[in-house]
Amino acid sequence: MLIKDWLEAFMQGHRERHGGEWPEPFSPDGKQLYSAWLRVMIDARATQPELAQVSREIKSEPGWGPSDHLAALLAGLQVMREKVTPQDADVSKRAVAMDNANGCEHCSGTGLAQVYNPDPKRWPNIPTQVAAHCLCTAGRWMRAQSTADIIRRTPDFVNVWAGKSGWIPYNPATPDDPEPADFRPSKWRDLLAERTKA
Ligand SMILES: [Zn+2]
Repeated sequence: MLIKDWLEAFMQGHRERHGGEWPEPFSPDGKQLYSAWLRVMIDARATQPELAQVSREIKSEPGWGPSDHLAALLAGLQVMREKVTPQDADVSKRAVAMDNANGCEHCSGTGLAQVYNPDPKRWPNIPTQVAAHCLCTAGRWMRAQSTADIIRRTPDFVNVWAGKSGWIPYNPATPDDPEPADFRPSKWRDLLAERTKA
């Protein structure tokens, strides 16, 4: 079934379930909202059963506008899909996962990597740093074992590392730390020598 065949009914059900301020469905604003959601849902390849389940699970707040609902639905969709995605065979076995991650540069094999508030002065209510599920096998294993609630509260280092998260993978208070993994004084001297030659 095409998304446009069920989205209108889904939005109506979601509005009734959660209440709040919504434009009238067939008013100009309502039509605009519908097309915006349609585009997003097509991009997300959303299916009706998925969205229906996420809509039931979301705990909305009274002050939420349509964009908050949309963000919550997409986040819920992602969490649900991460949970059902078949994991790599190695990741299902804890020992193997931890072993493979040994010496991971982000988490030292613990599965948890620190991520940082990019600007604590600007966002004082957000912790300066939290633990994220690492992108290595140990981190993937931990995320695969986590409940939906923990997944929702724990950043995914994959996204942080890809720059797709509000968190950043280094401490902004010491921007030069950590040094690049390949930094060695001898190599640095060689590079400098090379550059002076050129
Ligand atoms: Zn790691």
